[in-house]
Amino acid sequence: MSSRNNQAVWTNWSGALSCVPAQTVAASNEDEIAAAIRSAAENGLGPVRAPGTGHSFTPIVVTDGTLVDIDAHEGVVAADTASGLVHVRAGTKISDMGAPLLEAGLALANQGDINRQSIAGAVSTGTHGTGLTLGSVSSQVAGLRIAMANGESVDASADTNADIYNAGRVSLGTLGILTELTLQCVPAYALKETGGRMAVSDVFAQMDTLVADNRHFEFFWFPFADDVLVKFLNTTDEPARPPRPSSGGGMEHYAMVGACELSRVLPFLRGPLQRFLTSNAGARYMGAEEFSQKAKVRHAYQAFPSDREVRFNEMEYSVPLESGPDCVREVAEHMRKRGGNFIFPIEYRTVKGDDIWLSPFQGRDSVSISIHQYAKQNYRRLFDGVEAIFRSYGGRPHWGKLHTLTARELAPLYPHWDDFQAVRKRMDPDGLFLTPYLARLFGEDN
Ligand SMILES: Cc1cc2nc3c(=O)[nH]c(=O)nc-3n(C[C@H](O)[C@H](O)[C@H](O)COP(=O)(O)OP(=O)(O)OC[C@H]3O[C@@H](n4cnc5c(N)ncnc54)[C@H](O)[C@@H]3O)c2cc1C
Repeated sequence: MSSRNNQAVWTNWSGALSCVPAQTVAASNEDEIAAAIRSAAENGLGPVRAPGTGHSFTPIVVTDGTLVDIDAHEGVVAADTASGLVHVRAGTKISDMGAPLLEAGLALANQGDINRQSIAGAVSTGTHGTGLTLGSVSSQVAGLRIAMANGESVDASADTNADIYNAGRVSLGTLGILTELTLQCVPAYALKETGGRMAVSDVFAQMDTLVADNRHFEFFWFPFADDVLVKFLNTTDEPARPPRPSSGGGMEHYAMVGACELSRVLPFLRGPLQRFLTSNAGARYMGAEEFSQKAKVRHAYQAFPSDREVRFNEMEYSVPLESGPDCVREVAEHMRKRGGNFIFPIEYRTVKGDDIWLSPFQGRDSVSISIHQYAKQNYRRLFDGVEAIFRSYGGRPHWGKLHTLTARELAPLYPHWDDFQAVRKRMDPDGLFLTPYLARLFGEDN
């Protein structure tokens, strides 16, 4: 274990958040993690936070106390092909899991659209991909181990400490530091990617079929364009081909950067630029058959992640599945009329309901709708107006993406809010893991 008191600055991916913790402790095994927690508690150096890879937009890592960096506590420890159960250390990056899982004939059932997160970071906020039959990464957790405020560790699963299991799978690091996770994986599979441009009106007319007939369906909508960009991933028996080396996004990346920079100085160009980006992004989608020849076929873990090189800030809410189309239409209209200057598209995905107490998908199949603002631009005007629309549809915020809710508004959204709070207070009675921001989220700021 090594400790730095050199006032190292921590920043998140978008660059909007930073902090200078009193100390950063590098811990590479469970004993070191427990020792770091105990020492921070004894020396009054809380709040204690464990960062993942800093890909959250909300200040859920930010602390002026202790950061326990578990980056080196990583690796797939065991993968059982027969049961699909995979044991990983909590600091493992999702990008480092695909190859060893494939070697064991396994894969994650679903992933988000990047793979840079640590598995504990992704689980802690309910990170998800798209696909109505598939839950978030948190829903793939079969067991977890947490180092608590008193330095002791506890195991939890559906059979052992079920309350900690129900609370711990989405818990923003407020119960303690996750040290190990057991994931329920599935047999390895290949995915074929198809997609292209589709008229907005066609997508809404065919929405139910598009969602039901594809393992993964999502669309990106630049609100000033009449087409959206649809993306499908479906399993295939065709052999996976090696992916091309990442080009950092290629021409599309430069087109996006150019559009963002141009519209900053010439805001009236945002409409034409959004229409250009849409038409530039691909051919008109004519159906899976026509697309088949040029479809990419890759191992699942290589098919999910995309390049996200242009920095942005993001807000995302999940609404009940049936409200998704109305909600996204209203969001797009608001953005056109009152969203100010923005370029990034709206992202629309589906997620299967689950039983995790603080999961945005708890008890309901959902549509997640995300909006983004270029990192160099202020996001307040855009996000505030859209948040009111999300809330009017009973939306629940993504814990890692920007929102303005606190305990008063959050509690009624989660039927198990009080159950979660009881487990949290039992495991961390003195609030060692609560920063001022988290205290506001959980109503402990008075
Ligand atoms: C470009 C980009 C793309 C994204 N795509 C998606 C997407 O497709 N789907 C989606 O749902 N989200 C997406 N996100 C959001 C992201 O997945 C979540 O915010 C996720 O939590 C980030 O993981 P991280 O490893 O960076 O964790 P961090 O952001 O560093 O931390 C997140 C939370 O986890 C806690 N934590 C981390 N490790 C531990 C531990 N060992 N024990 C206890 N608590 C811990 C932290 O304290 C913090 O509260 C995206 C974000 C970006 C920037």
